Amino acid sequence: MLTQDQVSPSKVSNMSKKITIALAPGDGIGPEITRACLHVFEAAGVMDHVEFTEVDMGNKVFAEGDTRGMTDEAIETIERTGILYKGPMGTPIGGGGKSINVTLRKTFGAFANLRHFQSLPGVETVFSQAGVPVDFYVVRENVEDTYGGIEHRLTPDSYCAKRLISTPGCDQINRFAFETAKAFGIDKVTCGHKANIMKMTDGTFLDRFRFLSQDYPDIETEDVIIDALCMNLVLRPDKYKMIVLTNLQGDIVSDLAAGLVGGLGFAPSANIGDQISIFEAVHGTAPDIAGQDLANPTSLLLSGVIMLRHIGMRRTAAIIENALLYTLESGVHTGDVKGTGEPVGTKAFAEALASNLGKNPETIEGCAVPATDEIHHTLPERPSVNKMMTTHEQVESVVCGCDIFLENTLIPTELAAKLQRLCENTPFELTVISNRGTQVWPTGSPYTELVNECCVRFELREGTVIGQGPTVHLLAKVAEKFTVTDFIPIRMYDGTRGFSLAQGQ
Ligand code: NAD
Repeated sequence: MLTQDQVSPSKVSNMSKKITIALAPGDGIGPEITRACLHVFEAAGVMDHVEFTEVDMGNKVFAEGDTRGMTDEAIETIERTGILYKGPMGTPIGGGGKSINVTLRKTFGAFANLRHFQSLPGVETVFSQAGVPVDFYVVRENVEDTYGGIEHRLTPDSYCAKRLISTPGCDQINRFAFETAKAFGIDKVTCGHKANIMKMTDGTFLDRFRFLSQDYPDIETEDVIIDALCMNLVLRPDKYKMIVLTNLQGDIVSDLAAGLVGGLGFAPSANIGDQISIFEAVHGTAPDIAGQDLANPTSLLLSGVIMLRHIGMRRTAAIIENALLYTLESGVHTGDVKGTGEPVGTKAFAEALASNLGKNPETIEGCAVPATDEIHHTLPERPSVNKMMTTHEQVESVVCGCDIFLENTLIPTELAAKLQRLCENTPFELTVISNRGTQVWPTGSPYTELVNECCVRFELREGTVIGQGPTVHLLAKVAEKFTVTDFIPIRMYDGTRGFSLAQGQ
């Protein structure tokens, strides 16, 4: 049971100067949910220690022709303060403008997306009705994977996206997951992956998870293939405590998890970097309900609660979280929530919440309220070295051939005959032709459907060791006769293949 002293708003600070936080209210419902959150912060005494400075980003900036979606001043403010609190922002569809949300995370090195999914009182879900509590974290890598957005149209019919995964990136996110689990007292971490198909990219992610787990003997670990993980999450979400995932899989699982606890309106999100961190709502701009006082501010508020904990305002954060739990428990909710009683608007919800500060939920255990806030914040320091840029001098890499991607409508045997003539008198021989990753030459099935883009692999004839120069000469010869769509030298690393085999090879 908490004492009265533990539930009155905090006045304790060990920082005399206020912490400055960059604030971007966002688009659509962004401004109204941001106002609601600031109202609660004000009432909880947050503004005694924090000042918010508004920055320009989102639709307005895109409309002014800046494809970054944020002004130079906004970038400067975020780099100076180290913290951004942001509402949702729209992504221009087509036209080259990239998602500002993704740009922000990548530009400022906010590599870890941490989301907490928990059953909330007063929010009915199939699991709350079945008496199955949901309470787990998702740690999603934020920078790598297909989110590089590196895409090309290779032929009139074919497109390609690059999926980049690095060992330092895998180490950074897996280490973050283990460290966060340790700090939060979580004793089990699950790695979700598709290493059975993407043996090199997801394979590395899984290998690094297993390797780093050795440093955390008190944490139980398991790994699950992503499709099975999705099914398990829907059947038995209470089996999970923390799940670490690559970027795209993490994105999908996060929204699935939001559905388990009542929808996107409840899911908070923190994007943590070594220097700069971003706290935001998980949902989008909800244009269908914008400006109508219907939006649920809970996701943004809970993201703010994580932000307060990030700067050491753990007491104030707990008081706000308990007030939220009490408010929902007492039946006050916005229209998106399946609960009892008439829904209220965004403003009324925030006012009810502010008036409930100091109260604790009764049907579930509230958060423990620390006796004081221990406020701290280290301002970003411009990095002088890139710590992710490691070199593996001890790994020997040897070029052993190349994959050349071609636009092609010839049948595989005809194509092979032409290419074999081309590589006569070179150090290379044609070893395989694949179409959409499936081998179609030297053997293949007539039932394999072909598109007009294929990969031809040339490998060194036995015993020849060369640098990458000869592969480029071969490329030039092939390019005289065919439309080349992509080119990748292939290498052995310490005697192990650094390239995948074709399906059926
Ligand atoms: P959305 O999340 O905006 O809306 C999906 C549905 O959920 C809508 O019916 C909406 O009314 C409802 N909803 C969302 N948030 C709500 C809230 N707080 N309270 C009540 N209902 C809520 O997704 P969308 O429609 O696919 O995307 C709209 C725009 O938002 C797009 O431009 C998209 O790119 C952008 N977006 C931004 C972010 C972000 O800023 N982090 C995240 C996702 C989507």
